[in-house]
Amino acid sequence: MDKEYLESFIKNELHQEVDGELLKFSLYEKLLKEWNEKFNLTAITDDEGILEKHFIDSIYPMKFVDFKNKSLCDIGTGAGFPGIPLAILNPSLKVTLVESNGKKVAFLNEVVNSLSLDNVIVVKSRAEEFKIREEFDYVSARAVTQLNVLSELSIPLLKVNGELLAYKLFDVEEEVKNAFNALKVLDSKIERIEKYKLPISGDGRSLVIVRKLKATKKKYPRQFSEISSKPL
Ligand code: SAM
Repeated sequence: MDKEYLESFIKNELHQEVDGELLKFSLYEKLLKEWNEKFNLTAITDDEGILEKHFIDSIYPMKFVDFKNKSLCDIGTGAGFPGIPLAILNPSLKVTLVESNGKKVAFLNEVVNSLSLDNVIVVKSRAEEFKIREEFDYVSARAVTQLNVLSELSIPLLKVNGELLAYKLFDVEEEVKNAFNALKVLDSKIERIEKYKLPISGDGRSLVIVRKLKATKKKYPRQFSEISSKPL
């Protein structure tokens, strides 16, 4: 990984000083490559891909979202994206990583221990079976599922006024339109959509920010079979 590129992105774009964080990103990359030889954690394994598509993509929303002293639950975190990069750069952010796949959970525990990430806990669970409700300032999710289904998985976890941060590709309008009913039923609304380009490839991204307006009715989330066969 090009550490100097990451350092200048963090300094110039996020206006944050960097010290031990770069070492943590290097160690994370090393573990990701090692574990990926044994288990299929991610399809992106080249240095530039890890730098841009995993690390920078994960932290880019720090330009629009205030993570200071907040709590965040990253559902379907996989190998830790975006939750771990956000945790490395925001020590005051309390991060809960939720992942259903046991091998990925073992990897996440190894990363959290090796990087001494005191602000992160790892939970092996499906998001819709996670018992905690109405708890988090933010729920993040990247590449998990379509926004209508994702809303039912994530909004019950949020506090009233909390926000879902849905990391999406650039063209998101159709998906957002298809989620209007789900958002209405779940007493939530689209707060805003931040559009941006990744700095190396120029690939477009959208951060869809959904605000929860009222406490979620107890019947949501439903069982996953129902969520996916009869999406809201
Ligand atoms: N967020 C990561 C990223 O962007 O690299 C991983 C994306 S991967 C395509 C989707 C991940 O979500 C997988 O690791 C899968 O096991 C997990 N997942 C899917 N549905 C889930 C659910 N209902 N609860 C928890 N994890 C889930």
